[in-house]
Amino acid sequence: MKDPTVAVTIDVHSHVYPSRYVSLLRARETVPRIITRDGQDRMLILPGEDADSSTSAGRPIGSEYWDGARKVAFMDRHGIAVSVVSPANPWLDFLPDASRVATDVNEDVEALCTRSAGRLFGFGLLPTREPEAGAEELGRIAQLPHLRGAIIGTTGAGKGLDDPTLDRMWEAAERHGLMIFVHPHYGLGYGHAMPLALGFPFETTAAVTRLIVGGAFDRFPGLRVMVAHAGGVLPYLAARLDACIAADAHSPVRLQHEPSSYLRNLYFDAIGYQAPTLALLISLVGADRIMFGTDHPFFPPPVANTDLDSAEWNSPKVHRAAVGELGDEVQAAILGGNATAILGIKNAA
Ligand code: URA
Ligand code: ZN
Repeated sequence: MKDPTVAVTIDVHSHVYPSRYVSLLRARETVPRIITRDGQDRMLILPGEDADSSTSAGRPIGSEYWDGARKVAFMDRHGIAVSVVSPANPWLDFLPDASRVATDVNEDVEALCTRSAGRLFGFGLLPTREPEAGAEELGRIAQLPHLRGAIIGTTGAGKGLDDPTLDRMWEAAERHGLMIFVHPHYGLGYGHAMPLALGFPFETTAAVTRLIVGGAFDRFPGLRVMVAHAGGVLPYLAARLDACIAADAHSPVRLQHEPSSYLRNLYFDAIGYQAPTLALLISLVGADRIMFGTDHPFFPPPVANTDLDSAEWNSPKVHRAAVGELGDEVQAAILGGNATAILGIKNAA
């Protein structure tokens, strides 16, 4: 086995705002939008951030969100060979002409990857409010050599991921062998730091549970879904989910297997922050479905933008340390071996 200290690291949870998406956010007058206050560009994306008129509203945004060279500088600083970049929230949920924008943004992601000399692969975007157009976009994504699937939020066409109208998208994703990366945005309405700490993982948990109990994996057993942030709290609550559904004589859920067994249809990033969280996930799904991630460029260190590329960021350090406690073989698999196999990332030396 390879020395794990030189194990190839592939980051499957790394964000970009592609160029045409940034222009679109700059032109908007309501959230989500990019504004300039006191000479500083700030991104307002979370619901309610518009209400804050202070200079600390939202979060600073700079070219680290769209410049491929800066992404690679971050990767070099943290020993990451390859990143699979995905457009960050809130994707296209708020747009009336989402299908045209999806095609443009996906071309921008592909172009960013093409310019990276093998360092960047990507996930595209889907107009999930129009599932038929989403299915067609998956066909276009399948033609883009660096894209490996698409990132989506938790609302689907507005009725959750158990909405049967989404089946045409799941069918297309299964047929093309593309990964669907489910990522939170709305945060379930907790205040202050809580939207990210608790709201995001609970939102993901509810969305993916709906996908499971709606029977998507019975209808599309080859559907590949990657769940953000180590599955939220779904691994922790999986046994409770089984028990509650079994105890409910009136439950409309009709699945071929126990709900928790469908966790083995899913893939996960390793953004669990601590080894015990990852150990629980491994005990439920095995180590071969979990892939290293950072969430870059969110959660930057508190330094000037010009120093960001040379600074050490917390998330690669924390997630690498958590994975490092799991033993050499598991570490090598989660850091890069799994992504190589699951997403077909070649030449990641
Ligand atoms: N905050 C966000 O809005 N998105 C992320 O992906 C991470 C943090
Ligand atoms: Zn993220």
